[in-house]
Amino acid sequence: MNIVLLGKPGVGKGYISKYFERDFGFKHISTGDLCRKNIKEKTKIGQIVEQFCTSGKLVPLDLILKMLKQELKKSKGQSYIFDGFPRNVQQAQELENIARVDAVVLVDVPDDIILDRISKRRVCTVCNKVYTVDEVANEICPTCGENLQVRADDNVDIVKKRLLVFETETKPLIEYYKDKIVKIDNSGKLEDTLKQLDTHFKKVL
Ligand code: ADP
Repeated sequence: MNIVLLGKPGVGKGYISKYFERDFGFKHISTGDLCRKNIKEKTKIGQIVEQFCTSGKLVPLDLILKMLKQELKKSKGQSYIFDGFPRNVQQAQELENIARVDAVVLVDVPDDIILDRISKRRVCTVCNKVYTVDEVANEICPTCGENLQVRADDNVDIVKKRLLVFETETKPLIEYYKDKIVKIDNSGKLEDTLKQLDTHFKKVL
């Protein structure tokens, strides 16, 4: 079984992916993480995608597909949770040639909460764990002791651009996947989000 996660930047797609990974053994595939890994390792692809990612634009499809297919090769036969892919109808059509989509989770959070959460988001430069400033007093990763950073595309202007890209490019996927969509409200407490996920998925997974 494969699940696609849809949602604006900063709605907690990474957190919700962890639920499917931890509780049901899904393999988490985040195209954003793949981009950042390639940028960090200064691969050929990384050097091209960096300008798109840091400016909040979509990376060209051929590069996304290359990274995605490389990653999927490493974990054949698993159930996948796709986070950040597809991001438009063209990508959804491409995904049909790669994997069956059984369910789509649309994660919903109002824009004012998104902007607040992203302004507080910090990531570890080494283990890639994500925190909020409220959890970490000294900008040091509690897991590995390295420095925490603000993601390069997490400044207000770029976030607004990413929200616009969601409206124009990604929103049509809600109609495209209308028969498979489960809507989850992640604007409140995490326990409430988990309860909603349990209601929809505990029995079927
Ligand atoms: P968010 O969902 O919070 O915007 P991601 O980590 O999913 O963050 O994506 C970060 C950036 O990586 C995007 O703004 C875009 O530049 C690039 N990216 C990720 N996934 C895709 C994709 N499927 N197609 C094109 N670009 C992508």
